[in-house]
Amino acid sequence: MNKPADMTAITTVPLWINGKAQAAGSQRMGDVTDPATGAVTKKVPFCNDADIAVAVAAAKAAFPAWRDTPPLRRARILMRYRELLDAHRGELAQLVTAEHGKTLADAAGSVQRGIEVVEFAMGIPHLVKGEHSEEVGTGVDCHSLRQPLGVCAGITPFNFPVMVPLWMYPVAIACGNTFVLKPSEKVPSASMRMAELFKEAGLPDGVFNVVHGDKQAVDALLNHPDVRAVSFVGSTPIAQYIYETCARNGKRVQALGGAKNHAVVLPDADLEFAADALIGAAYGSAGERCMAISAVVAVGDTGDALVAKLRDKAAALKIGPGAAKIGGREPDMGPLVTRAHRDKVAGYVDKGVAEGAQLVLDGRGLKVPGHDNGFFLGASLFDRVKPEMTIYRDEIFGPVLIVLRVKTLDEAIALINANPYANGTAVFTRSGGAARRFEREIEVGMVGINVPIPVPVAFFSFGGWRGSLFGDQHVHGMEGVRFYTRGKVVTTRWPDANALPAGFNMPTLG
Ligand code: NAD
Repeated sequence: MNKPADMTAITTVPLWINGKAQAAGSQRMGDVTDPATGAVTKKVPFCNDADIAVAVAAAKAAFPAWRDTPPLRRARILMRYRELLDAHRGELAQLVTAEHGKTLADAAGSVQRGIEVVEFAMGIPHLVKGEHSEEVGTGVDCHSLRQPLGVCAGITPFNFPVMVPLWMYPVAIACGNTFVLKPSEKVPSASMRMAELFKEAGLPDGVFNVVHGDKQAVDALLNHPDVRAVSFVGSTPIAQYIYETCARNGKRVQALGGAKNHAVVLPDADLEFAADALIGAAYGSAGERCMAISAVVAVGDTGDALVAKLRDKAAALKIGPGAAKIGGREPDMGPLVTRAHRDKVAGYVDKGVAEGAQLVLDGRGLKVPGHDNGFFLGASLFDRVKPEMTIYRDEIFGPVLIVLRVKTLDEAIALINANPYANGTAVFTRSGGAARRFEREIEVGMVGINVPIPVPVAFFSFGGWRGSLFGDQHVHGMEGVRFYTRGKVVTTRWPDANALPAGFNMPTLG
C-alpha cells in the first residue's frame, strides 16, 4: 500500500502559545535542515507582528496569577519539570543533533548543563528573599523585596538549542515573570518539546510561550510595549542592536555576543595535557561554541612542540554524522549547522592562506562517505598567525584553530586585553604565581586555569566583557535573579506610644 501523501510531507513547526501548539498567521517560512544529510526536514514559520502580539498578550494575561503564585509552588512545578527534562534528556539530545548536527554525547552534555539551571531555579524561595532591619529609627522598621517584572522575552542562537534557552526562562519564570522565547529559526524543535514538558509539569497556560522567526519577529518583541525585559544570546552585531533598541524602548536588557577565546600555554605547562584539552575545546561541536578556544597563544619556546601535538591530534579526529557511530564509537565532531555557514568557515581558511598564515592542517574538501550533501568540514590548524590577519580579528565559529606566538606572559595578556571580544579565556601552566597574575590582570568575563572551557556552573553567572556582553547582568546564578526582578524597599511605622510624630524636615528617623 502506498503511503498517504501527508505522511511523507514536510511538517511545519507550530508556535506554542497559551499552553498549546498553534499555527502562525504569517505565511513566511524558513527551512530546517538535517546538517548530516543536507535534507530539508521541516518548515518553520517566520512570525509577523500580529503573531508576536498574540504571544505577548497570552504572557501578559498569565502574569498576575503567576506573580501571585507563592515561590514555593512555583518551585514545585520546576521540580517536576526537572524530572521530566531528565527523563527526556535522550530525546532532547536527539532533537539537538537532528537540527544542529553536533554529536549525541555533546548534545546530551549541553542538555545536562541546561537542566542544572532548572535545579538552581528550584531554590527560588530562598533566592528572592529580601532583607529586614528592625528599628532603623525609633519605632521604624525597613525591609527589601524583589518583585518580578512582567513579560520577559528571550532570543537565542543556533548553537545550543536546549541549553541557552534554559539559561533564561527557568530563572525568569521562577521569579514570577511570564516568558516569550524566540529560539533560532535554524533549530526550532527542541524549544517546542521543552514547552510541552513544562505544561506536563503543571505550568499554567500562558506563562511560557514559544514563537519562531527572523528579524521581523525579534523587532516585534523589542518594540512591544508589554515586553519588560529582553535576554539575548547571539552574534555581537545583533547583540549590540538588541541592546541599543531595548535601551531606546526603555526595556531592561542583557545581550550576550560573540567570542574569540584565547588559551595561553606557558613554557612550564604539561604540553600533552594542554594539547588534549585544546583539541576538545577547539573542535568539539565543530567549533560552534561561544566558549570554544579559537586562538592558542604559545608563549616562549612552546610553539613548535605544541603545534606538532595539535596537528597530530586534530588530524586523527573522527568526523561524521552526529548520531552515527564510527568504528563502534561516536564521532568527535559532526557537521556544521548550515551549508552557508560551512562555506563561510571554509572561506576563512582561504583567507588565512591568502594573508600568509601557515596552514598546518587543511580541513577543506573533507568527504564523509554516504553524506555528500552534509555540511561537513574537517579540522583546520593555522600557525604563525598575526593579530592583524582576518582569521584572528573575526569570530570564525567553526573547526579552525589558530596559533599565535609571543615571547612573554605580559605580551599574551596585552594581546587578549586588546581583543574586541572578551567572553572566555584559559591559561595552561604549573605556576601558581603566573596563574594568579593571569587571573587578576586578564580583562575577560570567564577564566579557566588549566580548564579550557570555563563555563560557570548554574549557580554562578555566565557572561563576557566588552563586545561579548552588552548590559550589566550576566545570565543565570544570582545575576539572573537580579535581572528578572526589581528591588523595592519598604519603610514601616505603626501607631505606637513610642513613635515620633511626622514633621516637615528631612526625616532622619533616629
Ligand atoms: P545570530 O546573532 O545570527 O542569531 C541569534 C538570534 O538573533 C537568532 O534567534 C536570530 O533569529 C536572531 N537574529 C538574527 N539576525 C537578526 C537581526 N538582524 N535582527 C534581529 N534578530 C536577529 O547568532 P547565531 O548565528 O544564531 O549564533 C552564533 C553566534 O552566537 C556566535 O556569534 C556565538 O559566539 C554567539 N553565542 C554567544 C554566546 C554567549 O554566551 N556569549 C552563546 C552562544 C552563542
